[in-house]
Amino acid sequence: MKIYIIGIGLIGGSMALDIKSLHPEAIVCGIDSNESHLQEAIALGVVDVAGNMEDLASADFVIVSVPVDVAMVVLPTVLDAIGDNTIVFEVGSTKMPICEAVASHPKRRNFIATHPIAGTEFSGPSAAIKGLFQGKTNIICEVEKTTFKLQEKALELFKSIGMRIRYMDPKSHDKHIAYVSHLSHISSFMLGKTVIDKEKHEQDIFDMAGSGFESTVRLAKSSPAMWTPIFKQNRKQVVKTLEEYISNLSKFKELLEKEDYDAIYNEMQSVNKIKEILNGINVKK
Ligand code: NAP
Repeated sequence: MKIYIIGIGLIGGSMALDIKSLHPEAIVCGIDSNESHLQEAIALGVVDVAGNMEDLASADFVIVSVPVDVAMVVLPTVLDAIGDNTIVFEVGSTKMPICEAVASHPKRRNFIATHPIAGTEFSGPSAAIKGLFQGKTNIICEVEKTTFKLQEKALELFKSIGMRIRYMDPKSHDKHIAYVSHLSHISSFMLGKTVIDKEKHEQDIFDMAGSGFESTVRLAKSSPAMWTPIFKQNRKQVVKTLEEYISNLSKFKELLEKEDYDAIYNEMQSVNKIKEILNGINVKK
């Protein structure tokens, strides 16, 4: 089995590690515009060798795991270069623009649009983790547009690395993911900003920062190079979620100004049901 990974960072690298451990006979070739990432990936054993775009015709799988703006440009070129039996999948955090970018490509049936709901705040090949996808959901969009035989090949791979499959249309994906992922990142970035701005004047603030602050601000360590194009591509949905979030923040502030502690209590109590929702999700996993 020959696998090409284009963009050997957290996601591509973690896929490579799982595939290599499940299929020791597989040759995993890495392609990355960042030469030091490529060399690091080889040195860490994340990939076996450096690959070439010209050789994609011999690939069984091509995994495109680059920032979403880059994926729009790279994907058509990849599809031009692959063989008839190659399956290409892309793992970006937005799905509508990417599905549109390949909609009329003659090799559209060799492509499957995915979003593995797994990750960390770290980037690059050194961030790759074996087992990252175990028990996680892989959202697949427009599955009917992929040749059945190649769909089966991809699904077998996803299941073998422990992923549950969820089918969704690209528009619904982008709408829902704006709430549970994109908004969480903005909220974390802006929490970090609020505290950093204050810290300029009050050095002590970080001595008082407990694990609550650390876990809430974790996503603010994420890569701006990855997140800016995601916000750009999903701008409309993200703006809508931000309006709703800002309105909730403003209402909370008003309650505090009015010293309406019963309302504040009730507001927080009603949101406590997130415990059951998240427990339910963890039980399903
Ligand atoms: P990453 O760790 O930054 O890895 C991306 C790699 O692609 C980097 O080595 C990057 O090099 C390289 N690259 C950039 N432009 C390229 C090009 N034109 N050709 C080849 N390689 C190129 O990013 P990641 O976290 O794995 O994310 C990859 C994709 O997965 C993104 O589309 C993201 O939306 C999606 N995703 C991420 C997560 C997450 O939690 N991180 C979860 C699910 C899905 P440079 O660093 O030099 O740019």
